[in-house]
Amino acid sequence: MHVIWDWNGTLVDDLPIVVECVNAALREIGEDPIDADDYRDHFVRPVHRFYESLLERSITEQEWATLDRTFHERYAHSLDRVPLADGAAEALDAVDARGWSQSILSMWWEEDLTACVVRRGLDDRMVLVQGNRNDGGGTKAAHLRLHLETLGIGPSLAVLIGDSLDDAAAARELGAGCVLYDGGSHHPAELKKTGVPVAATLTDAVDLAAPDGP
Ligand SMILES: [Mg+2]
Repeated sequence: MHVIWDWNGTLVDDLPIVVECVNAALREIGEDPIDADDYRDHFVRPVHRFYESLLERSITEQEWATLDRTFHERYAHSLDRVPLADGAAEALDAVDARGWSQSILSMWWEEDLTACVVRRGLDDRMVLVQGNRNDGGGTKAAHLRLHLETLGIGPSLAVLIGDSLDDAAAARELGAGCVLYDGGSHHPAELKKTGVPVAATLTDAVDLAAPDGP
């Protein structure tokens, strides 16, 4: 078995900082700030639809460019304040203890992602760390296809552990397994509607990823 970890909202607990960065972006286009509940109520990919859902209106190309640029600039400045999620280290150990391999697949820019993974000393245990190379705010399925091809692993032997509806959609499209962790970008009730197992902790997520159950 192979576990593919999502990064933001799964292995790192960045929701408070993400909300700060969204608010910096909204301020740039003259809109009011939101809180974490608003974020979880509206988060969706592609990301420009998230802002449209929040603002209950369409956004212009120029506004989208400003939002995306401001968010990423602000987030890059906040990197050192982003902690590993509760139980992340134990969950990575649990994957190793089962004799499974593991990797990271994120929609965040690959260079920044890799630097963060290395800084936390997690790169040695990952067979692949893949971030976003070219696609501002798209969906995860195409990235998951490339990830599986690079790994040379069939989807039936892989389980994606993530925190978003987009993680579940990507796994479904490729035929991979999926477990959702409810500490991230969506409310648990929304995650449960996907029909995939939902875990309250990352170690529970690893247990649920086992083909024969916990
Ligand atoms: Mg995530």
